[in-house]
Amino acid sequence: MKKPKICIIFTGGTISMTVDKNIGAAIPSLSGEEILSKVSNIDKIADIEVYNFSEIPSPHMTIDKLLELREIIMKKLTGDEFDGLVVTHGTDSLEETAYFLDLTVKHWKPIVVVGAMRNSSELGYDGASNLASGVCTATSKHAIDKGVLVVLNNEVNLASEVTKTNTLSLNTFRSPYGPIGIVDTNELILYRNSSSPQFIYTDDVERNVELIKTVIDMDDKLLRFAVDTGTKGIVIEAMGRGNLPLKIFEGVKYALSKGVIIVIVSRCGAGRVFESYGYEGSGKELVELGAIMGGEMQGVKARIKLMVALGAGFNQEEIKELF
Ligand code: ASP
Repeated sequence: MKKPKICIIFTGGTISMTVDKNIGAAIPSLSGEEILSKVSNIDKIADIEVYNFSEIPSPHMTIDKLLELREIIMKKLTGDEFDGLVVTHGTDSLEETAYFLDLTVKHWKPIVVVGAMRNSSELGYDGASNLASGVCTATSKHAIDKGVLVVLNNEVNLASEVTKTNTLSLNTFRSPYGPIGIVDTNELILYRNSSSPQFIYTDDVERNVELIKTVIDMDDKLLRFAVDTGTKGIVIEAMGRGNLPLKIFEGVKYALSKGVIIVIVSRCGAGRVFESYGYEGSGKELVELGAIMGGEMQGVKARIKLMVALGAGFNQEEIKELF
């Protein structure tokens, strides 16, 4: 039987790192071919094409690079050459890249993002097994039409849900409802179904979108600075169900009066924001003023979504609908 053909796009991250003796810490140094050579027997699963996109740590990822990556992915998925695609990425910002691709690449073929928590100089390098699981997922019929999937530690999570939760653990990537599946003996086993991924058609992204986290007695100087320097949208990680300290609430009124889109999510890390409270600065007041509730989305993902929505030219009502 003909083997599936998978394109692996290497972008950098710990999966590509070794400890540099002079620096005494890990830096990107392995090419895609060198990483792939550590994955024994992968040729029995799929024919692989390596695409060396970049060798960057993921805190260096930029919006320009994301747009370029998306372009390449769309080209690779067009036509019959590839059955699926894997992107290797640093884990620090992996959830943002994966979610950006989830929102902006519409294709039924599997798209999988993988990374590693241990570099290749460390004992127990997990890059090889994660890449192997990523390739197995990308060849699976169960991964079709699922949007972008994130695979580490044998667990398969939806890009729209997953977050890095621990600086060190191999099972750092968690979703509120658990993984959508696992990779067991080279097979993707699905635990649950997912709703169809959201797709926003756009070739551009609004870069002037900020994320602000609230703390006790926070004032509005950061927020006002953002508004006065041309910010088009601000995601606020509010407290609890979506409530704000009084001083920053004043800044939100100012931002809304200037036409800046405000999206409220929670700094709690889990659970929905909602208009449950009616006191000054509460979720109810925010919604009445025109702020948009971001549901249970994490702040970093809400920012990506707002950037994409504004890039697509969506207005306030359409953005509200989207969230
Ligand atoms: N700092 C690394 C990066 O994101 C961490 C990792 O890949 O796990 O590039």
